[in-house]
Amino acid sequence: MKKVYAKEEYCVGCRLCEVHCVVAHSKYPNDIIKAFKKDTNRPLPRVIVEEERPVSFALQCRHCDYAYCTKACITGAMRKDPVTGIVTNDEERCVGCWTCILACPFGAIKRDESGHKVASKCDLCSQTALTPACVEHCPNGALLFEERDN
Ligand code: SF4
Ligand code: SF4
Repeated sequence: MKKVYAKEEYCVGCRLCEVHCVVAHSKYPNDIIKAFKKDTNRPLPRVIVEEERPVSFALQCRHCDYAYCTKACITGAMRKDPVTGIVTNDEERCVGCWTCILACPFGAIKRDESGHKVASKCDLCSQTALTPACVEHCPNGALLFEERDN
């Protein structure tokens, strides 16, 4: 399956990938101003820029073949689509117990406690776009969306 891969040598730590991830998952996916000024329940970014100068790179869910988060989830909210391989969290079913966070070896899930507690993670923008927003908007080509053998 196609996944997002970081090229850390091109990442300048601008965090635009985080910004556009928020926009893409907000109530105003096509309007960055409204997404930040009007969406009172703005989502967390699902991509996380790690930075230890001079190195930075954007981390997100690896959509693992054996997804520990789905095995650990106590409600069945976290699931891997058997056809696409994309791992998503059904926020209606998620009870915010954070078991998936403990199970994920990549630190790719965040706690969203802004309302009903939910585990927040990358969905590859699969509901809205062909290319994830972080990849689409990185100004330096530091994120690639492609299929690899590994
Ligand atoms: S948008 Fe690109 S350059 Fe900027 S932090 Fe994200 S990956 Fe790095
Ligand atoms: S959330 Fe973590 S364990 Fe689950 S598929 Fe993504 S990287 Fe793998």
